Amino acid sequence: MLSDVRLSLPRWVADEVGDPEKRYVTSIDRMRLAVRLAERNVAEETGGPFGACIFESETGILVGAGVNVVVAESCSVAHAEAMSIMIAQQSRQAFDLGARGSPRMDLVTSAQPCAQCFGMIWWSGVSGLVIGARREDVEALTGFREGPLPRDWAARLENRAPLAPVRVERDCLRDQACEVLRRYREAGGALYHPGSARG
Ligand SMILES: [Zn+2]
Repeated sequence: MLSDVRLSLPRWVADEVGDPEKRYVTSIDRMRLAVRLAERNVAEETGGPFGACIFESETGILVGAGVNVVVAESCSVAHAEAMSIMIAQQSRQAFDLGARGSPRMDLVTSAQPCAQCFGMIWWSGVSGLVIGARREDVEALTGFREGPLPRDWAARLENRAPLAPVRVERDCLRDQACEVLRRYREAGGALYHPGSARG
């Protein structure tokens, strides 16, 4: 039996991210990178049409990037948001990205988080969430199903005393994010939901 888990991003991600000193100042700057990662994941055929990044809220420093690698890594949890959260936490050696005395962090994702990623965001310690495409875009344009999210998921993140709130910003570069979803479907990209794979 295995006793550890290793998950890797495609090699091209490091090139795409480039200069580690770069500051991503606005939500649009940050989303541009998340969408670009999603777009390249489709073009390189390395996974689903999703990209996500974690940034320090104030400085705009990139702390973690992720793309969907569910199929390549044989791992149903390896969504873009999950990869970016895990990489940010490992890189800062912190299970809590909202730890007192540490810089606040935001998750910027090309598409609305699914049921799993909603839970991961809840426990991650991020202070903000910026979203490109909406859930209905993902479902209509790709055929993926996003799972049983609470109807009031955004309000639950924003009002969760005694835990610190997670601010939610939606529709950031929504059209560009939707274009990537459309392209994935047109390219015949796989739907890797449960029951879709051959044993
Ligand atoms: Zn997800």
